[in-house]
Amino acid sequence: MEKYLWISVSTNILSLGYTQFVYSYDKLLYSKGAEKIEHAARQNDGTSAISTALMKKNLRWLVVLSSIPLFGMVAAFGILPNTLLKDVPVQKIVLDLSLPDIPQTADANMKLWRQERIQRNDSVASLLVRLKINNQDATNFLRDVRNIKTMRRLIPGKTIHAQTTAAGELLTLRYFPSEEEQLLIKKTDGVFKVDKRLIKLETHIQMKSGVIKSSLFAATDDANIPDSVAIQIADIFAFDIDFHRDLRKEDRFKVVYESHYSRGDPIKTGRVLAVEFVNKGKPYQAVYFEANDKERGYYTPDGKNLRRAFLRSPLKFSRISSGFSRSRYHPVLKKWRAHKGVDYAAPRGTPVRATANGTVAVSTRQGGYGKLIILKHRGRYSTVYAHLSAFAKGLRKGRRVNQGDIIGYVGSTGLATGPHLHYEFRVNGVQRNPQRVVMPAAIPLAAKNIAAFNKKAKPLMARLNMLRDTNLVFLD
Ligand SMILES: [Zn+2]
Repeated sequence: MEKYLWISVSTNILSLGYTQFVYSYDKLLYSKGAEKIEHAARQNDGTSAISTALMKKNLRWLVVLSSIPLFGMVAAFGILPNTLLKDVPVQKIVLDLSLPDIPQTADANMKLWRQERIQRNDSVASLLVRLKINNQDATNFLRDVRNIKTMRRLIPGKTIHAQTTAAGELLTLRYFPSEEEQLLIKKTDGVFKVDKRLIKLETHIQMKSGVIKSSLFAATDDANIPDSVAIQIADIFAFDIDFHRDLRKEDRFKVVYESHYSRGDPIKTGRVLAVEFVNKGKPYQAVYFEANDKERGYYTPDGKNLRRAFLRSPLKFSRISSGFSRSRYHPVLKKWRAHKGVDYAAPRGTPVRATANGTVAVSTRQGGYGKLIILKHRGRYSTVYAHLSAFAKGLRKGRRVNQGDIIGYVGSTGLATGPHLHYEFRVNGVQRNPQRVVMPAAIPLAAKNIAAFNKKAKPLMARLNMLRDTNLVFLD
C-alpha cells in the first residue's frame, strides 16, 4: 500500500509539472499560432475571431489530453510484477486538475500584423472594416489620409499590411503601391502621419545549377531556383529543346540571374542573364543582350539570335491532335488523304497568334477551311490558319501583323468535327511540316552592336564557366 501511495503522489507531482510545461508551451504556440491564423485569414474575413476562440478551446483539451499518456507511462514504470493495474488511481488525478485562466487583458493588447488583399472596388473604408479596425481609429484614419492620392487609388491585387491590437486599434498601416515605393502610415498621439518613401532595390546576381531527374521544374525546385527562372529557361531554348519530350535524366543546367532585394528581403526575381543547358550531351548557351528597345533578347555566345522568325505554335497552350502526314483517314470526308498541316486541339474562342511578322494575304471564308487567314512573310514563307470562329477586330487583307499578334479565334467552321486550329506552314506555297522544318533565325545582331555584345557576353560566360568548375569539384 505504501508503494501505491508513493506511485500516486509522484504521479501527481510529475503530471502537474508536465501539465504546466504543456500549458506554457502551448501558450507560446498559441501566440505564434494566432499570428499565423491572422495571416491565413486575410482573404477570409470573420474567421480570425472565431479561430481565436477555437484556439482557446482546443488548448484546454490539448492540455488534458496530453497529460494522459504520461500517467500510463508513470504507472507502467511503477508497477511491480503481480500488481493489478486497476489499483492505480489514474482517472481521479486527471479529473482533479484545474487550469489557470488565460488572462483576457493580455489578448486585447497583443499586437498583430494583419494583411488584406485589395479587391476590385475596394476603398480604404472597406479595407478598414475587413481589418476590424475600431470606429474611432477608422474615422481618424480616413480623415488623415483623405488628401493622399495613392490611398484613393488603391491597386487591386496588392496587399495592405496593418499592425493592430487584438482589440482593433490601428497602430501602423503599410502599403506598397509598387515594388519600389512604400507608404508608411503611423499613429502618433491619435493622429495618423503619412510617410512616403522609395525603396531602393539592391540587385544581386545569383548563380545556380541543377540536374534533371524528372522535369525542369522539379530540378529548379531542388536547386531552390524560382519558377520564373525555370519559365525563362524554357522560353529561351524553346526552339532548341522541347522541354516536354526531349529532356533526359542527367541533363544539366547552369543559370546566372538577377534577384532584387529590399532591405535584405527578396522582392522579385529578375532576368536570366546567362544560361547553359546540356540536353542529351549537347550544350546550349544563351546570353542576354540589350542594344535598344528593338534589339534585345538572348543570343548564343557568338552573337546568333536564339529567337526564330516563327513561333513554334500559333496557340499559347495547346496539344497537337493530328500531325502532318502523307496519309490519314479524314474524319469528315471518311476517306484517306494527306494531312498537310498540323491540328491543334483547343476550346472555341482560344486566341490564335501570328507565328511571324507579315501581312494578311487572305482573310475570308473558304469551303472546307471555313474561316481562313493566310499570312505572307519575309522571303518564301506563308502560314495558314483555318476553321476559325472569328477574325480579330480590324484584321483585313493587306494589314501588317507582328509575331505574337492575335489574328483570330479557334472554332469549327468548314470541314471540322470539333473546335481546333488547322495550321499550315508553307515554303514557296508548298505545305511543309512545321515540326520538322528548320525555322529561319530572327534578325541577327546588327554589326555596330557586336563589340558591345562581346563586352557584355564575355564576363557572363566567365561566370557560367566558373560555375562549371565548382560543379566539377563538387561532382567528383
Ligand atoms: Zn487539319
